[in-house]
Amino acid sequence: MALLVQKYGGTSVGTTERIEAVADKVSRFRKDGHSVVVVVSAMSGETNRLIGLASDIMEEPTPREMDVLVSTGEQVTIALLSMALQKRGCDARSYTGSQVRILTDSSHTKARIKQIDEQRMREDLDAGRVVVVAGFQGMDDNGNITTLGRGGSDTTAVALAAALKADECQIYTDVDGVYTTDPRVVDTARRLDRITFEEMLEMASLGSKVLQIRAVEFAGKYNVPLRVLSSFQEGGGTLITLEDENAMEQPVVSGIAFNRDEAKLTIAGVPDTPGSALRILKPVSDANIEVDMIVQNVGEDNRTAFTFTVHRNDFKRAKEVLQRVADELGAREVAGDGKIAKVSIVGVGMRSHAGVATQMFESLSNEGINIQMISTSEIKISVVIDEKYLELAVRALHSTFELDKAAVSEEA
Ligand code: ADP
Ligand code: ASP
Ligand code: MG
Repeated sequence: MALLVQKYGGTSVGTTERIEAVADKVSRFRKDGHSVVVVVSAMSGETNRLIGLASDIMEEPTPREMDVLVSTGEQVTIALLSMALQKRGCDARSYTGSQVRILTDSSHTKARIKQIDEQRMREDLDAGRVVVVAGFQGMDDNGNITTLGRGGSDTTAVALAAALKADECQIYTDVDGVYTTDPRVVDTARRLDRITFEEMLEMASLGSKVLQIRAVEFAGKYNVPLRVLSSFQEGGGTLITLEDENAMEQPVVSGIAFNRDEAKLTIAGVPDTPGSALRILKPVSDANIEVDMIVQNVGEDNRTAFTFTVHRNDFKRAKEVLQRVADELGAREVAGDGKIAKVSIVGVGMRSHAGVATQMFESLSNEGINIQMISTSEIKISVVIDEKYLELAVRALHSTFELDKAAVSEEA
């Protein structure tokens, strides 16, 4: 019999009826003889509601108090699910992150898990109980409540699975697996039976929010068997696997990720001298603003231009910092665009295929879409385009790289 860690996301526990349905599912696994640790998210919309309450009080609340606030959502669902399990005669106990000693660093709102003491969970499991743990939260060395960043319940589940050496970590959500692209945007998207950790990591970090990036990193590092499945329908979902050397030929492109959360900044007419990149980007990083893509143009008349992207939430602040830098350096101008999107094609098969970039550019050019920035790595190519062409671009690339699912005939 297996030891399973199962995570149920916000939509899956979004109402008491849905919590009862999760309890039905979990108690069936228990009846089949499996040991189960369940990790739950807050009810869908709850974390956003709590963030909204804080912003009614002040613009920039301290991260410590934000964590105390937003961690409450998960405390509600662990209690309700445990009650629903008990009602079914299934022994269960709920725990907050600090009660099961999920120790993190002290970076409030984006804490990293350092250590988990699995002893308490083991005792419950040995006594035949389902252990229900609040996702997304932990505690630092001083006992302060911390949270793991949006979508962090995925990471809690994978970390518990690693600590307990579980047979599988199952992420139950509102889609029945990982698709070639977001199935809510492209209706011809196809579910993948398998995807490698490496590809999933790229997909997650390039905007596919089906799994939190840290969860994938953690699963890869500790080799946790990880599966994404539907809470609402039966099926094998998608297994995230190590690369299989013997696998039949890999598709060149496995998936398409996109991200509307970025904004673009340009500083033009910068003196083209050693150290100018440092003088521009250091103040940005000193302001705790993360930079994603960076492009420096070829200099002309001893002047050059830098363009880079940041998270849209940091756009205003980054522009202010850049304006100050421009004044100091005697740069000509600062410009910004908050309405961009990044589209990326991902696939381990790209390593062994030439001409993928050309195919991508041709596909976008056929749709009349202008590429503003490009960045590549071994297994991905990303482009920045005008946000209004995002869906068109994703659909075009999806078809160019033959990712569309086979059309289902009406008579079949
Ligand atoms: P949960 O609340 O269960 O954690 P999320 O909303 O975080 O669920 O993640 C599931 C959502 O991820 C899906 O509803 C889907 O819209 C989105 N998504 C984005 N990219 C993909 C993809 N490639 N495959 C599947 N789902 C994706
Ligand atoms: N409730 C948190 C969020 O909405 C964590 C999670 O759902 O994974 O981000
Ligand atoms: Mg999620």
